[in-house]
Amino acid sequence: MTSLPVLPPTQTAVPGDDADARPRKVHLLNVTDEGLKDWLAERGYPAFRGKQIRRWLFSGRADSFETMSDLPAKLRAELTESFDIFQASEAHVSTSRDGTEKILVRLADGGEVECVLLRDGDRRSICVSSQVGCAMGCVFCASGLDGVDRNLTRGEILEQMLRLQHRLPAEERLSHIVMMGMGEPLANLPGVLAALDVARNPEGLGISPRRITISTVGLPPAIDKLAASGVPYNLAVSLHAPNDELRSQLVPVNQKIGIEPVLAAADRYFASSGRRLTFEYVLLGGVNDSEACAHELTRVLRGRTVMMNVIPYNPVEGLPYRTPNKESISRFRQILEASGVNVMFRQRKGDEIDAACGQLRRNRGSIGEKSPAT
Ligand code: SAH
Repeated sequence: MTSLPVLPPTQTAVPGDDADARPRKVHLLNVTDEGLKDWLAERGYPAFRGKQIRRWLFSGRADSFETMSDLPAKLRAELTESFDIFQASEAHVSTSRDGTEKILVRLADGGEVECVLLRDGDRRSICVSSQVGCAMGCVFCASGLDGVDRNLTRGEILEQMLRLQHRLPAEERLSHIVMMGMGEPLANLPGVLAALDVARNPEGLGISPRRITISTVGLPPAIDKLAASGVPYNLAVSLHAPNDELRSQLVPVNQKIGIEPVLAAADRYFASSGRRLTFEYVLLGGVNDSEACAHELTRVLRGRTVMMNVIPYNPVEGLPYRTPNKESISRFRQILEASGVNVMFRQRKGDEIDAACGQLRRNRGSIGEKSPAT
């Protein structure tokens, strides 16, 4: 059998892993259209079979080749022999009263990531992970407490999207994607961009890039690379502080970068994509929610067309941070609004199912407990 032009896996073997337990089939979601066409051609099948398979995967919500009823039985058997549609499993699913559903996905090598389906009016948004763990080390976030294990492949990112799509009733479609799950998407640009290429392809999930948001801690060279890709995704930059002193404490990668270069890269992204910038600001009680912080933030944002997404902290067990009280949240909001900043206070959805980044994985005890950050 020829080797398939599968997208390069970014993972390495897990030490001590039982090699026999790992899948021997190819993850179909990692196979490019060209690769599938070649595979079909080698077996004498015309290229349109590839289109049919894609339609089954992305519109038909197929989770086995057997259900692909307009394919010849022999082809279905050959596909089953060579490929897996899904290679992960659902270690845990939780549903919140507001309709939010969260899946803890166990990958083929045992790593775990989270993805979430949010229902809001007609919107069906999904929040997807890009890495197992995270190397950015934001002190309040559950995802990075144990560092990063590896990047996810295109197929593993797409599998999260499809697993969430399968949870919708047949008449509903996914409408928005946010890359705000576990990991730093811009530290895995190849995997993320390859998956999003399929997500926005009309023969894939058909979601416009205007409805796709990539959230980043703010890595300037990678922001420039994203701009160079020429696809107008929305960019959300996690700011969390109005000055370098505080930002470097909360977001340690800032020590090597600094707010100004992050803002400049965001400005360049805005100039080249025309997409409105979003800045995210997690409000941590007594840490970055003071009136002084709000005023300083308005000065930092002056002259920029941005949306400020202020997110009250979702407490993480074992970490010494807390959600601010209602008064300080509304005071913070008033100061920003009074200075003309567009502010959106993110509705808290799915709190009771640990919907903040990395919490479900942590609370299920699948990774070791750490002592609280000091
Ligand atoms: N690495 C990317 C994506 C991370 S998750 C980034 O930094 O943007 C998306 C957002 O959720 C980030 O702004 C992150 O700081 C925030 N976040 C993480 N943990 C949180 C928590 N416990 N409560 C509220 N927001 C949180």
